[in-house]
Amino acid sequence: MSIFNQLTISTNSELVRPTFAEINLDRLTENYHAIRKATAPAKMMPILKANAYGHGLVEVARHVVSLGAEYLGVAFLEEGILLRESGIRAPILVLGGILGNQVPLFLRHDLTLTASSTEKLAQIEEAAREMGVTAKVHLKIDTGMERIGVHYYNAESLLEASLDCQHCLVEGIYSHFANADSASLISANVQLNRFKQVLSFYEERGLTPPMRHMANSGAILQMPDSHFDMVRPGILLFGVYPSAGSSHTIAVKPALSWKSRVVYFKVVMPGHPISYGSTWQSDHMVRVVTIPVGYGDGYFRAMSGKAQVIIRGKRYPVVGRICMDQMMVNIEWETAYNDDEVILMGQAGEQSIRCEELAEWAGTIPYEILTNINTRVPRVYVRDE
Ligand SMILES: *Cc1c(COP(=O)(O)O)cnc(C)c1O
Repeated sequence: MSIFNQLTISTNSELVRPTFAEINLDRLTENYHAIRKATAPAKMMPILKANAYGHGLVEVARHVVSLGAEYLGVAFLEEGILLRESGIRAPILVLGGILGNQVPLFLRHDLTLTASSTEKLAQIEEAAREMGVTAKVHLKIDTGMERIGVHYYNAESLLEASLDCQHCLVEGIYSHFANADSASLISANVQLNRFKQVLSFYEERGLTPPMRHMANSGAILQMPDSHFDMVRPGILLFGVYPSAGSSHTIAVKPALSWKSRVVYFKVVMPGHPISYGSTWQSDHMVRVVTIPVGYGDGYFRAMSGKAQVIIRGKRYPVVGRICMDQMMVNIEWETAYNDDEVILMGQAGEQSIRCEELAEWAGTIPYEILTNINTRVPRVYVRDE
């Protein structure tokens, strides 16, 4: 049973919705190699939580494994199980917090657990002993995010306990930045130093530390000191920068384009308002086209009155409120026909609409735009001609 609606239908299928997300696997490949080049010899753990940032969990996992990714990271147990049930054999770390009763499921599916406290580690050790298996574990240190993980100032007891485990293979130790994508790296460097302080535990005892990892996209771009043994790129792999403030030291390109088609054309008389609430009307005659996409697909209603789309190489405004499944675009007195391609996000000739721009219209961040493209929107995978 699949928790995601993995649609693998081709663009020319009659079943495909005119609205779809097109993922270019060659862009993913290029982004992967660009990140690799900037972070070698560190290993890479692409982060594929939330349906691989909307790009399709299983397809993206298969692709990055084929490129040589050493590890995969997901947020939840269910995401890891789905990957295993899809035949992915690469090591998978589940980054999120775990509940005691989930541990046997982790072990049954050979998923790597995050041990974020001494109690969690003991639960894992106990379950692994009962099942007669060795649990793969990464220790999680909280250096300033205050999400999960043992506080850096209490970490020593967890590290001590980890040395005594008989049924756990402590394969990694990691932390997570709260501000690695901002223009000022002061607080990120405080976190980095706290992590290094925790790691000195191994050096002081003459022990080789387990795999150390800390860098998300922001830190991959801005903090080479934090790359350690492995990096954890999420959004950067998909060709989007984590924030406007972070430096763009690695060139990446968006992998996802969001497309639709014109399904209706009409002329609207002056003073005749458009859509729910009648919030917009023209004082002259205009041509208006209807596009079969709406907030029920993740095209946020909050973008009403701000969003634009590209039709025939030109930008036009979305007018009136965005509905659940449809929206209207004012093309003034220009030309568009039923079936014309509409670019909601992506490039068309000279024009392009980036994820960052949608985020600004919606008053949010690019992460939320990508992860909200609903499963009702089919994913179509393409390569360059
Ligand atoms: C989401 C996440 C990442 C990736 O973050 P990006 O900013 O998308 O690169 C890395 N590590 C952890 C623990 C995360 O939760």
